[in-house]
Parts: sequence; structure tokens; C-alpha cells
Amino acid sequence: MHTPILMITLALGLNTEPPATPALTTAQTPTPAAAPVSAPSLTITVSTEQAPDLAEWGDKAKTICTEWWPKILAELPSDGFKPREDLLIEFKKNYNVPAAAAGGRIMVNAEHVRRNPGDLGMMVHELVHIAQAYPGQKENLGWLTEGIADYIRFWKYEPQTKQRQINIEKASYRDAYRTTAAFLAWACHTYDTTLVTKLNARLRAGKGEAAMFKEFTGMTVDELWAEFIAAGAPSSPEATAKAKTKKTDNIKSTKAPGTASPAPEQ
Ligand SMILES: [Zn+2]
Repeated sequence: MHTPILMITLALGLNTEPPATPALTTAQTPTPAAAPVSAPSLTITVSTEQAPDLAEWGDKAKTICTEWWPKILAELPSDGFKPREDLLIEFKKNYNVPAAAAGGRIMVNAEHVRRNPGDLGMMVHELVHIAQAYPGQKENLGWLTEGIADYIRFWKYEPQTKQRQINIEKASYRDAYRTTAAFLAWACHTYDTTLVTKLNARLRAGKGEAAMFKEFTGMTVDELWAEFIAAGAPSSPEATAKAKTKKTDNIKSTKAPGTASPAPEQ
């Protein structure tokens, strides 16, 4: 017999133990209101045909993807979404990017792995893309798609990774990747912890637009960005956690030069 409690723990337990065997099914479990979560499983095949020497790394990648698949899905729930159940991880001999995801495949640049064997975090980034499964949007929101992928990678999977301070003169929320990730993390922390969840649901429905930010936070994305910069552009999970939240900490004259000092530039 499976208890509903167990399922909820599995679904929300991002910071708890890895989901040992997320294959428990709970057909009769009353589903919590937020999202229909049945423990998702992913059958992963690794193809090392083009890079037989990377079999061991492929195994590690598979283990991490297996562990993180349910966690990522729990971060990005949306009503009625049916995640895919199979994934092919394929090493490529010649590839112009470190890795990329498309359909049910993650293509991995073999040479990149040989040079950066510690870069397993990129697999989490690509796995987020598999979980996102976004159709096309009316606007080009590629920056947001990449930002969400790096938000999960760097703010959830490897928060200890040192981040470079964002250049407040030149950066934009449209820079994608880590910059957008830091911006999203700050906006979640400051305004609404469910912001990424909401953005994801809209994107997955093919109804993404920059105007979502105003709808969800009361501020346009440009206003939010300006505030993020004014707050010193907290660029790491540690710095994000120290940022003021609008709920608990009321604005005391925002411009306090030097007080919001995040990680020093390097
Ligand atoms: Zn990406």
C-alpha cells in the first residue's frame, strides 16, 4: 500500500534524499491540487558508438539524469503535462557545442567531455530542456528557456559552483543562461517563489510572452531588471539568499552604495 504522504515527499523532496526508485505508482492516490504528480521514470539509453572511451562518463551522466529527472519535473510542474519516458544520450565525435537537447535526445560533444570530465552539470541543463518540452512561442523567449535551465542547474543542482559577478553596465535579462538564471532566482526570492513554476507552465502551453512578468509580479520585466541591478545583481545562490524580499523587508531607501556587496568581481 502506498500512502499519499510518501508521494508528496517524492514530488517535493528536492533537497532530500535522491528518489531511490521513482517507479512507485499511486493510481488511487488523491492528487494534491498543484500538479498531478505520479513518480516519473525515465528509461535512458547511452550511445557511446562515436566515443567508446567515454562509457564510464556516460554511466555517470545516466545516474545523474535518472536522479534529477523527477526533481526537475517537480520544479516545473504544469497541469496535464505528460513527461516523456525515454531518453537517448548520444556522444558525438564532431559537434560544435558542448551539448544540446532535441526531442528525446541529448547530444554530447565527446571532445568537450574529454577536456571537461567534471562538467556533469551540463547534463542537468540539457535534461531541463527535455523536461521543458516547450513548443514555439509567439515571441522569441529563448533567453528565458535557457535561463530556466541554468536556474535549475546552478541554483538547485550545483549551488556551490562559483559564479562570476554579473556586469551591471552591460548585462541584460536577455543574455540567457547564468545571467537570466540569476535574475529569475532573485525575482523568485524577492517577489514570488513560484514565479519560475508559473513561467514554465505558460511556456509549456505555448503562451509565453514577456508580459507574463507583469502579470505574475506586478512589474514589467524591464522594471524588475532595473531593480535587480539596483540590488547589486546578486549573481550566485548565496548572494540571492541575502537579497531583501519585498514581503518581509520593506524598502529602506534603495540606493545604499556598497551595502549590497555580492561576491567580488574576479
Ligand atoms: Zn540550453
